[in-house]
Amino acid sequence: MNSVLAVGRDLSDRMVFEATIWKQANFDALTHLPNRQMFHDRLDHEARMSDRSGRPMGLMLIDLDRFKEVNDSLGHDTGDILLIEAARRITSCVRESDTVARLGGDEFTVILPELDDSESIEQIAKTIIGTLAEPFRLGPDEAFISASIGIALYPQDARELDVLFKNADQAMYAAKSAGRNRFSYFTPDLQVAAEKRLRLTNDLRVALQAEQFRVYYQPIVDLATGEIYKAEALIRWLHPERGPISPLDFIALAEETGLIVPIGDWVFRQAVRQARQWRRRFHPSFQLSVNMSPAQIRQDNLVCIQWSEYLMREGMPGKSVAIEITEGLLLDAELKEKLLTFRDAGIGISIDDFGTGYSSLAYLKRFDIDYLKIDRSFVQNLGFDADNQALCEAMVMLAHKLGLKVIAEGVETTDQRDFLVAVGCDFAQGFLYSEPVPSDQFEARVWPTIKDAADDEVHDWS
Ligand code: C2E
Ligand code: CA
Ligand code: CA
Repeated sequence: MNSVLAVGRDLSDRMVFEATIWKQANFDALTHLPNRQMFHDRLDHEARMSDRSGRPMGLMLIDLDRFKEVNDSLGHDTGDILLIEAARRITSCVRESDTVARLGGDEFTVILPELDDSESIEQIAKTIIGTLAEPFRLGPDEAFISASIGIALYPQDARELDVLFKNADQAMYAAKSAGRNRFSYFTPDLQVAAEKRLRLTNDLRVALQAEQFRVYYQPIVDLATGEIYKAEALIRWLHPERGPISPLDFIALAEETGLIVPIGDWVFRQAVRQARQWRRRFHPSFQLSVNMSPAQIRQDNLVCIQWSEYLMREGMPGKSVAIEITEGLLLDAELKEKLLTFRDAGIGISIDDFGTGYSSLAYLKRFDIDYLKIDRSFVQNLGFDADNQALCEAMVMLAHKLGLKVIAEGVETTDQRDFLVAVGCDFAQGFLYSEPVPSDQFEARVWPTIKDAADDEVHDWS
């Protein structure tokens, strides 16, 4: 062979080889978008361009909401198809000069150089959110997802690129916690909130060991007789410096960090112990409700089996406990399967915050749910809102038709109670009877006084 040709071929082979290596190092194999490595290079480059031109650069972090659900229920291959399509849709929304990259999983990012005004970045964010909210056809299935976007601007929000990235991430987090399917800008307030969250997370890691948690109990009152033989266990965090912290302020953190699993187990065991005592001392069929967040079942495969076995080992009947879950859990085939363990062990199942989620009554019937807890938002306005009255009445009727008992949450006034009695609601829980209190107060104060509240004159609703 001609040696010049041979060298030429060697060279071109080598170039193809190097090009392949370069591609693998810089692009995502699934979506063919730039990967994290390439993203950092471009970000660096565009920041320098921005310094020169004096025009700001935007950084957008896009996280698909509920992608995990699609992946889990339809399989990873289908999940991959969705990611490819999502990448295509995002790319179709941006300008030629913008860089769309995939950072991994369901996280994407867009670098927007040379911004004219914030209007344009907002417009792009809205378009992306809109296009991702449209249904995804995935073979025979159709899936719906949405996206949460965080936006940070260079150089306003940060001159250093890792800080800029962190800021965009915080903004994305804010969009998620504000309800997803939206975008959020980075602001100094977010910064303060993020720092606070970080400190709280660190404190949370030691709280269980340091015995800073307490379980409080709120009575659930039988509306027909005024008797109490049920209560809900609600966790409290007695922070050594900050005082009591509401679960609303730390359960989400516990879920993110995985700490919800040991914390939830602890609450469960406390509740079982308490149920045993109160069954002996006050009412032989006393039942304690324990809240279970979806994260607990997702993060701990065995939690349902372990809780059921724990009860058995302790010699406690299944029905001494009820687990409160939200409606959404029943839509997830895998989680639903695990929940069957509870049912088979005779453990009660309550649907918490009913009316705020999907409200599929058919699911309730098929799953053999025991209790439906009407969300506080419906009960709150019962006094003067005719629509809410109709809704509450309908929920009670439907639940009864399906063989479920109804617990009304957040009952604060005698008027609300009287209305609930009139429509045949079975149980009530709320400040009218008692706030959640430590067990000794429950014994000393709650039990003796409830009867009196139930004996108050009854309002006539007819
Ligand atoms: P939830 O399960 O809906 O619990 C009821 C919440 O409503 C409690 O808030 C209770 O204090 C409050 N509440 C009860 N009656 C009234 C009333 O008449 N008026 C008003 N305005 N509020 C009332 P809390 O204890 O702050 O708990 C908040 C949420 O935190 C709970 O909502 C539950 O989702 C979660 N949570 C609490 N403990 C645990 C736990 O041990 N594990 C898990 N996974 N979540 C928990
Ligand atoms: Ca609850
Ligand atoms: Ca509730």
